[in-house]
Amino acid sequence: MRTIKDLENIEGRRVFIRCDFNVPKDEDGNITDDRRIRGALQTIRYCLDRDCKVILASHAGRPKKGVYNENLSMKAVVVRLRTLLKIAEKITLAKDVIGEDALSKAKELKAKEVLVLENLRFEEGEEKNDIEFAKKLATMADIYINDAFGVCHRAHASVEAMARLYDKEHRVAGFLLSKEVTFFEKKLDNPMRPFVAIVGGSKVSGKLEALRNLVEKVDKIIIGGGMAFTFLKAQGYEIGNSLVEDNLLDEARTIIIKARKKGVKFYLPIDVVVAPEFSENCAIKYLPAQEIPKGWMGLDIGPASSRLFREVLNDAQTIIWNGPMGVYEMDRYAKGSLKMSHNIADSYATTIVGGGDTADLAQKAGDVEEMTFVSTGGGASLNLIEGKELPGITALQAE
Ligand code: AMP
Repeated sequence: MRTIKDLENIEGRRVFIRCDFNVPKDEDGNITDDRRIRGALQTIRYCLDRDCKVILASHAGRPKKGVYNENLSMKAVVVRLRTLLKIAEKITLAKDVIGEDALSKAKELKAKEVLVLENLRFEEGEEKNDIEFAKKLATMADIYINDAFGVCHRAHASVEAMARLYDKEHRVAGFLLSKEVTFFEKKLDNPMRPFVAIVGGSKVSGKLEALRNLVEKVDKIIIGGGMAFTFLKAQGYEIGNSLVEDNLLDEARTIIIKARKKGVKFYLPIDVVVAPEFSENCAIKYLPAQEIPKGWMGLDIGPASSRLFREVLNDAQTIIWNGPMGVYEMDRYAKGSLKMSHNIADSYATTIVGGGDTADLAQKAGDVEEMTFVSTGGGASLNLIEGKELPGITALQAE
């Protein structure tokens, strides 16, 4: 994959940078975590330092197509960019994506100026990977840079169709994207051992491919979160009303057998926090995994599991983590996940945290600085673990 550093004659050019500014906001519209914006700064500064005219574009949330939505506008992102880049007067926001305002502002851009387009998903063409929409975007710039790892697993117009409109010399990966991809590929293909994978989250089905791929590569696997109950049930445990995928019990058994055959150590929670309902406002119990009462559901791993998993991580040299250990959105069931985050951060291993929920957790736990690498893309990082091709990256590599 060619990167921004391979670009010749970038000086003074018109560059389009596909960023991932899909940042979380609170109910008042304030950005609560700007890591994704800060992650794009290196690429933006590199271009500005070379007198480029910079056009930035991103999606945000899931707006109704073809309709402007104030809450999902790029306004807050522009305000934050002005603070971070410290060139406030040189950053403007277009009123639209490919409308008159965006096109004319793009044309009038001067060296070292930045234009931010409105939310790409305000246009129907973005998610449809529409070539006409991509062509309009491409009229704005001579060089295409993709720095949006978080959306590379989606064939959307600004990520896929648009990249293909540029020849190899004029389309590259930005610093953030190339760092994400290199990190995952290098660490997955050639990890220091013992290599431990920690997989959690709601369902086995969502991470089945990842689990199959990981069993081939790691020395130990820890399973937590809702998906652990399918594995526990597959081993004959009573799991009450816990989350389960009955159609995957055989699949779960197959993974356990495969792990055993390959000598991969396989760990499930040994105790759980159970509740009679999916709520924080009820009496809860800490019980061994063998003792989940009928009618109750497991919503977090228990303290004994946290201690066991800490032991498992003791000798790890590489740790990859994707998915929470419990329903961490409710404080009462967040302990297992927060402890897991601390245990990973405290280890002496190279630690890789998958994006989305897991990155959010590491942030909540205050552990981000202690991790070796926190990915900005949840789905995209999962696809890399699964060994799948990402459309956005394939488009950059196309001949
Ligand atoms: P995923 O998107 O598959 O990574 O799953 C993340 C979600 O899994 C979070 O929203 C958690 O609330 C949920 N989750 C984790 N543990 C459990 C559990 N024991 N029961 C139900 N949901 C869970």
